[in-house]
Amino acid sequence: MAESKHFIENFIDKDLEDGVYDHVQTRFPPEPNGYLHIGHAKSIILNSTMAKEYGGKFNLRFDDTNPTKEKSEFVESIKEDVKWLGADWEDRLFFASDYFDKMYECAEKLILKGKAYVSDLSADEIKEYRGSFETPGKNDPSRDRSIEENLQMFRDMKAGKYADGEKVLRAKIDMAAPNINMRDPVIYRVAHMTHHNTGDKWCIYPMYDFAHPLEDAFEGITHSLCTLEFEDHRPLYDWFVREVGFEMPPRQIEFAKLYLKNVVTGKRYIKKLVETGVVDGWDDPRLVSIAALRRRGFTPESIRKFVEISGISKAQSTADYAALEYCIREDLKPSVPRMMVVIDPIKLVIDNYPEDKTEELDVANNAENEELGSRKVPFSRELYIERDDFMEEPPKKYFRLFPGNEVRLMGAYFVTATSFEKDADGNVTVVHCTYDPESRGGNSPDGRKVKGTIHFVDAKTAVPVDVRLYENLIDEEKANEMDSIYDENGELYLNPNSLQVCKAFAEKSLKDSKAFDRFQFVRQGFFCTDFKDSKEGAPVFNRIVSLKSSFVLPKE
Ligand code: ATP
Ligand code: MG
Repeated sequence: MAESKHFIENFIDKDLEDGVYDHVQTRFPPEPNGYLHIGHAKSIILNSTMAKEYGGKFNLRFDDTNPTKEKSEFVESIKEDVKWLGADWEDRLFFASDYFDKMYECAEKLILKGKAYVSDLSADEIKEYRGSFETPGKNDPSRDRSIEENLQMFRDMKAGKYADGEKVLRAKIDMAAPNINMRDPVIYRVAHMTHHNTGDKWCIYPMYDFAHPLEDAFEGITHSLCTLEFEDHRPLYDWFVREVGFEMPPRQIEFAKLYLKNVVTGKRYIKKLVETGVVDGWDDPRLVSIAALRRRGFTPESIRKFVEISGISKAQSTADYAALEYCIREDLKPSVPRMMVVIDPIKLVIDNYPEDKTEELDVANNAENEELGSRKVPFSRELYIERDDFMEEPPKKYFRLFPGNEVRLMGAYFVTATSFEKDADGNVTVVHCTYDPESRGGNSPDGRKVKGTIHFVDAKTAVPVDVRLYENLIDEEKANEMDSIYDENGELYLNPNSLQVCKAFAEKSLKDSKAFDRFQFVRQGFFCTDFKDSKEGAPVFNRIVSLKSSFVLPKE
């Protein structure tokens, strides 16, 4: 079945058919001012997939034209994230600041064509002259300066003869244009600032709307895919590449941003959570920065799948976090081993099992995937089971342990609860049972049926581990009620229970798990070994997602 193409593919098809371009070249242009998040993943995957699908190339370009914010920490993390997502820029890694000389030449070219002029107006005056949606703008008093004078003044700007804000270079377009972006936008400003790449070489810096199309054009980008907020800037984009005179100017196409319901995505907001200590760094597994998703245990495949099912369109929409969860479950279900870990333990003592005996049961790692083989699971007289797998007085349809009831210990034996002990607070601490030695492997010895199967960990060989369970950082109930994740002061509605650390017991074979190993813990969900907090022989597990799902994949 041929998959239907999205609107960007249709554009590209038409461009190739019409001979507008003979190849496809895309780019991802992050500003290195923070960590990337799930929204950026959409852009990375879209851009790199388009290049791949059409046999073209994909560039990673740092948009570092703004001298204030860049940090090399961010450059490194962005490279790591893009690579991890599988978007390969090969040898095409670029920095916009490397083009400052060429951009400057383009600006002089515009001046020489009479298409740019140096303005004496202040920032406030420029704003005032610009007019509004209802009123046209007013011409800048410097608009008719001679080409020679403009050229000299622009060179003086570059030479450092003016203070910050004293002069700007403006494009000469149309102060009455209905699109305000076309009303003689500023293209260069004076800023005596040190740039992380070019140092003190420059005291004038290009504005984004001028720099971005030029960067695309210098690199031979054909399709410049960006988000919808740039739609109104497209005429300006086209104006710059046309007036500078590129032979094969790039085409800008806008698509809708990816938003997740009740999830914090904006760099600015994530930064605040990090700085106020609400979360433990940019890669706290409760965040949706790419670093956090990776640490939590999401795979690149699951994120690609999520982007795919969310779709590429111009219509603004909000995706559900449950869709992302669905994608990781689908990815891990057949591919990772299923292990036993007891997260909230109570003891189970098998009174008729020999005291000094230990045996090893052979248990399949994943019933859906024989390739994952099997492992030895130790078994002896004392085990741990989940607290909620025993009830003193069970409600109807409770098929796990209660006095007199027989259940299967997964992969092991049938056991029947006989009695139990409680502590002073009335909490069950120990359950006693007897086992049927004939039921080894969890098979019925005589056709006898049990309705419940519970998991366990052998007490003698159990490995104590920290297991971290997560909930949404946002208080969803409140956010849904208020229809916003922010209160009237711009503060997030936070969920106080977003992190729960449990002292759990894991079966022996989990002791040596390595950073980023992934597992299903039976009945608990999918987990990943934390790469930061795990120690040799003492792994810490992050729950990626529970097993329960209410998400239904939307039909094509
Ligand atoms: P934010 O403020 O949300 O962190 P940004 O737009 O400031 O993001 P940039 O580094 O400027 O971040 O963006 C790099 C690219 O990623 C741009 O092309 C931008 O359009 C795209 N992008 C940013 N957010 C999203 C999103 N939520 N969905 C899809 N693409 C996005
Ligand atoms: Mg930005």
